[in-house]
Amino acid sequence: AKTDGRNRARTFTRSMLIVLEQREMLRRSLRTALEEDQFFIEYQPLVSPSRAVVGFEALLRWRHPLIGIIPPSVFIPMAEADGLMSEIGQWLLEQVCRTAMTWPPHFTVAVNLSPAEFLHAGLTDRVARVLDLVGIRAERLELEITESVLLERTTNNLDTLNTLNVLGVQISLDDFGTYYSSLSYLKNFPFDTIKIDQYFIKDLEHDKKGQTIVRSIIALAHGLGMHVTAEGVETEGQMNWLRKEGCDRLQGYFLGFPLPAEAIGDFLRNASTA
Ligand code: C2E
Ligand code: CA
Ligand code: CA
Ligand code: CA
Repeated sequence: AKTDGRNRARTFTRSMLIVLEQREMLRRSLRTALEEDQFFIEYQPLVSPSRAVVGFEALLRWRHPLIGIIPPSVFIPMAEADGLMSEIGQWLLEQVCRTAMTWPPHFTVAVNLSPAEFLHAGLTDRVARVLDLVGIRAERLELEITESVLLERTTNNLDTLNTLNVLGVQISLDDFGTYYSSLSYLKNFPFDTIKIDQYFIKDLEHDKKGQTIVRSIIALAHGLGMHVTAEGVETEGQMNWLRKEGCDRLQGYFLGFPLPAEAIGDFLRNASTA
């Protein structure tokens, strides 16, 4: 039994080591990914209840030369920890605004901001500069932040959001309902849109409690003069339920997968003839 235990311990250590080495290797290659053009952006449609496309959300991907495509849930926390996310986000913001300029002029484009990006002292200047440089109307840009971002440094956060609001960009509260969901955020911060997390959408058709929660979020948002987007809509039933309850915008695989920028033209042509 003793040797058994020792073997197990050794095996465990070795596999742990491999995982750590892989993470270390990834972290190192993350530093060169931006220079070597390994990031690319996909765009997921946002649609109205009548299924008209109203905009897209930009989603970042990393095409690693050896590993292949790595999802943002893996590399964004690493980029945050290494202090690289702000620079990556700056690159993304400019790319995304340039791409949006090729779309119909009423389409919006949503960009996610991680905590480090949001807390970066130069954020508001950077956003203003990109709008100016690219010549896109501010109201076409939507910035998505999660509640976790707002947990610290409250007065500065409020200043940042107010400055962005004055610039005229739209501000969305992402993943609503999954964090601390302090309702004081809704009272004090200038959000234009609440995005209901996909967790609440998943079982919507069969889950009475979930339905009550989603209905309440929609009423709360509308009562405060905000719009509501439901994310993670995967079935026709979910779409119809959300439509009936007055949800303003829908997003999810049922309405459209994330697409590379080059595929958007075809997607829009198919959508308009469907
Ligand atoms: P998020 O902002 O909540 O984005 C929605 C995620 O749900 C995306 O995953 C999207 O591909 C996925 N999704 C969309 N529709 C459906 C659906 O119907 N069913 C299911 N199961 N999933 C759906 P993705 O692209 O892997 O992104 C994960 C997270 O990484 C994002 O969550 C966001 O927090 C972060 N992220 C992605 N791109 C960026 C970026 O450019 N900057 C920053 N800071 N964060 C990003
Ligand atoms: Ca988002
Ligand atoms: Ca606003
Ligand atoms: Ca979300």
